[in-house]
Amino acid sequence: MSEEGTGATRLSPDDAFSALGSEMRVRILRELGTADGPLAFSELYERLDLSDSARFNYHLDKLLGHFVHKIDDEYALASPGERVVEAILSGAVTDDPRLERTPTDQHCTDRGRRLEIEWQNGNVEVYCPECESRWNQSWGRVGGPVAADSGYLGRLPLPPAGLKGRSPTAVFRAARMWSNLELIAVSAGLCPRCSATVERELLVCDDHEADDGVCPACESSFAVRLVARCTNCIYTTGTGAAWGLLATPELTGFLFEQGLNPLAPENPDRLDSVLSGYDEEIVSKEPFRAEFTFSADDESLTLCVNRSLEVLDST
Ligand SMILES: [Zn+2]
Ligand SMILES: [Zn+2]
Ligand SMILES: [Zn+2]
Repeated sequence: MSEEGTGATRLSPDDAFSALGSEMRVRILRELGTADGPLAFSELYERLDLSDSARFNYHLDKLLGHFVHKIDDEYALASPGERVVEAILSGAVTDDPRLERTPTDQHCTDRGRRLEIEWQNGNVEVYCPECESRWNQSWGRVGGPVAADSGYLGRLPLPPAGLKGRSPTAVFRAARMWSNLELIAVSAGLCPRCSATVERELLVCDDHEADDGVCPACESSFAVRLVARCTNCIYTTGTGAAWGLLATPELTGFLFEQGLNPLAPENPDRLDSVLSGYDEEIVSKEPFRAEFTFSADDESLTLCVNRSLEVLDST
């Protein structure tokens, strides 16, 4: 460990995680993270309700310089310590709650049936009991992809804390919002996990035959799919290509005009039906041009894009 408070330390992942490898140190981080401000040694010691100050001092010292800074005889979390506490409190690294498949108050705009959700492995999976699947495979399961049950409409990432105190409908809305914020970042080329650059690629199915269901060639209902991979971390996502336009003024402007707020959707079912129920047409293969047409009530918007998902024309 370096001199306390210099902030100049760079730790290897091994050293960083071994510095966290004690219940006491994790408690210290949580206590500092949930305090109103920096804490003096004695305040922190009292909050932890300990009887051995030498042992406390030993563990605190292990955190100093990287996870915890000492400023004017008080202790506060440094940014890496904040990230650790956030990850703990999100439940993402510890919790594995259960939400079995449950109906929500949101209805399928195609068939009017209540949409159902299930939480698994950090994702809300969405189903319609009456519709064809949009995807044959679920990529969100441990060791995925695995064959998806019928009526599978896709998955929305949501950390375990997103389930706390929420009804199934509220969980669905929160997951839609969380997912849209991710997709807006991806749409702008930014990794929603680590902020590095994501590389985006369009996958085009040459033999696409979906007929309101899943195409056997690409195992999706979308002929043009977007795959995004972070150039730095392990984040990767795949979706219908039009979701990659969520950061464009053309699409967001259209959605807002239709009373659909993609940032905080009141009606995730209606937003979903506009953003997933678009028509797609591959206008030209070389150079690649595709048109996506979004419809809401009597209004529609057609965006023509190239292979980089740049909007070339909007009508
Ligand atoms: Zn349906
Ligand atoms: Zn296909
Ligand atoms: Zn990343």
